[in-house]
Amino acid sequence: MIPAEFDYVRPGSLDEALAALRDGGEDAKLLAGGHSLLPLMKLRMAVPTLLVDLGGVPGLKGIERANGGWRIGAMTSHAAMARESDLGLAAKVAHTIADPQVRHRGTIGGSIAHGDPASDQLAILLAYEGSVIVRGESGEREIAAAELFQDYLTTAVGEGEVLTEVRLPAVDGYGFGYHKFNRRQEDWAMVAASALVKKAADGTCEDVRIGLTHMSSVPLRATAAEQALRGRPLDASSIAAAAEQAAEGTEPPADLNASADYKRHLARVLTKRALADASA
Ligand SMILES: Cc1cc2nc3c(=O)[nH]c(=O)nc-3n(C[C@H](O)[C@H](O)[C@H](O)COP(=O)(O)OP(=O)(O)OC[C@H]3O[C@@H](n4cnc5c(N)ncnc54)[C@H](O)[C@@H]3O)c2cc1C
Repeated sequence: MIPAEFDYVRPGSLDEALAALRDGGEDAKLLAGGHSLLPLMKLRMAVPTLLVDLGGVPGLKGIERANGGWRIGAMTSHAAMARESDLGLAAKVAHTIADPQVRHRGTIGGSIAHGDPASDQLAILLAYEGSVIVRGESGEREIAAAELFQDYLTTAVGEGEVLTEVRLPAVDGYGFGYHKFNRRQEDWAMVAASALVKKAADGTCEDVRIGLTHMSSVPLRATAAEQALRGRPLDASSIAAAAEQAAEGTEPPADLNASADYKRHLARVLTKRALADASA
């Protein structure tokens, strides 16, 4: 329960943070809210020799509108996102993350960079078809959500890079829904489903995006269910038929809480509820 010894620096700028990461080598780690990294260090599953605290780097916090969409600083807490109700789906989801302490310390950038498929906001980034901005010593690049999550706890953010910003494109005119199943209030999701739905003037489904949490080693889109609903009337029977496809192509990890089959069942049920909310 006590981490191995490590050095700690608190840089005052992004350039200093990048230099500290480079000088610390492969055993240096960025520290954001610490709510994933510190538990791993206490279990000695992560043994960094240097922590580079992003808490003193200016310009990494805040939520602002940009071209109808949103730019969210990587060090923005889950609590700050939950307060920004205009964010729609992403704000609703932030409310469901753990308890107030975790929501006030944990950050959107840390959550995404950590890449845990049980984290709530990762599948939301996929559903928005959003992206992240990362800075390294050689410059800045944008990574689309679809390219970001590579494997369990593995993302396309490089070792010497800092995730600085999350971009969510405009989803004006979309309804949204989020359903998370957990054993107790404030627990991690056993499975969760999110939906963004745009209705055409004739009442059919113009567009739909469905995100699945904890149904594989990475967050997923339920593409078969999306295809089944696009162009169909947004009524109960089309939604139920589409939701039946929600677990297609998933490989949910069985764990102490649920078998893989039970998780597939949950994905279908939760997708149906999320689609119903988003279409209402
Ligand atoms: C009791 C408990 C319950 C929780 N329940 C939930 C839940 O229900 N849903 C949920 O989604 N999450 C949950 N979490 C996780 C929480 O949301 C964490 O905040 C989040 O996973 C990591 O964010 P952080 O800011 O704490 O990152 P940290 O723990 O500081 O860092 C995590 C990893 O990301 C790297 N990193 C951090 N910031 C950056 C950056 N800007 N650029 C590049 N790399 C970076 C770090 O080096 C580290 O490897 C829970 C955590 C706890 C302790």
